[in-house]
Amino acid sequence: MKKKYTVPVNPLPDGIIYLDYHATTPTDPRVLEAMEPYFIKKFGNPSSPHQLGQKSNKAVEDSRGIIANHINSSRGEIIFTAGATESNNIVIKGLAKQAERNGSTRNEILTSSIEHKSVLNVASSTSDYGFMHKKIPVRDNGIIDLEETEKMIGKNTLVVSVMAANNEIGVIQPIHKVAEIAHNFGALVHCDAAQAFGRMKIDVKEWGIDFLSLSAHKGYGPKGIGALYIKNGPIKQPLDPLLQGGGQEKELRPGTLNLPSIVGFGRATEIIEKNLEKEISYLANFRDMIEQNLEAKISDVSIVGDRKKRLPSTTCVCFSDVDSGALVAGLSKNNIFVSAGSACESGALEPSHTLLELGLNREKASQCIRIATGRFTDKSSIASAKNIISKIVDRIRMVENNT
Ligand code: PMP
Repeated sequence: MKKKYTVPVNPLPDGIIYLDYHATTPTDPRVLEAMEPYFIKKFGNPSSPHQLGQKSNKAVEDSRGIIANHINSSRGEIIFTAGATESNNIVIKGLAKQAERNGSTRNEILTSSIEHKSVLNVASSTSDYGFMHKKIPVRDNGIIDLEETEKMIGKNTLVVSVMAANNEIGVIQPIHKVAEIAHNFGALVHCDAAQAFGRMKIDVKEWGIDFLSLSAHKGYGPKGIGALYIKNGPIKQPLDPLLQGGGQEKELRPGTLNLPSIVGFGRATEIIEKNLEKEISYLANFRDMIEQNLEAKISDVSIVGDRKKRLPSTTCVCFSDVDSGALVAGLSKNNIFVSAGSACESGALEPSHTLLELGLNREKASQCIRIATGRFTDKSSIASAKNIISKIVDRIRMVENNT
């Protein structure tokens, strides 16, 4: 008999309905418990040769092993960083700087047009040392255009960076196909898997990629810790480091290792590894429930992006004639937390680049909110959220019609 998935006790403060799990996740209490001894009792520097240091080093290596195993790689292929932003920077700048130093003729960096800004802005910044950033378009369902990919990748392509799953619409990209095309031209392939972590299976071998970025705080680990997978490790696939220092992490990412967070990242990964399949259906069930309800109860609602090839947790919903900023603010007053556009972009006046790339006009793009279910979502929070969303949508529409 299949064992039932038991939801861990909800650690969030009473009364809040958190549906913004793509912005960040709360640290799972089991992760916090695993981290705690590494602040005082087991605080040694993992680089110290004495016993205290070596115990810390063992904890770091255990975490590295758990993370490596989770993505089907090996320990020597994982470097700890401060998160996906740093991992993305290390790969793109590291490759570009090295190519420049070696006088390589590969001077183009390709990304999908809906990457996170920590890929897009880094890729554009390499123009400072002679690289050209080209953006591969996506179709109106958010999936990368493979015909265009084939046309755009060439013998001058250094690296192609395509995310596993989008942070705003959750759409999952055919990474293995992108990798196949890129490798035919001798280009390297990087995948930003920040949002995929804990929400879908990640398999670097099956995907056939060279680099992968991860971030612990998207999967119930602490903030400020992440990892970079490098196929065959940083000796065989060298990158120019962004920082110079004490030589930690095979000289690619020097600085004293963030021991408690690394332990937490490992524990978070262990929990994900154990429950992934069950958690995927748990997340999808609530996501579908909220979508069906909003579509049935509210007029002029549309869902953005492919509805099948999508993370189980995500829905990007547009309500005609409703400003997403006003809706997010109204929900927030009711202790319901969702986001308009990506968290990093909300607050800015510009509509989300992802939604514009999918072909939405500026008006429509400013009417979409992202709702994301997570480990601590439950039936009653979904019921309250859908009722309050429809009340606030009605109220905003009424005000709009009367002005
Ligand atoms: N890539 C994607 C797709 C993301 O969603 C995020 C976080 N919003 C990042 C990168 C940046 O991750 P981090 O916060 O770990 O730097």
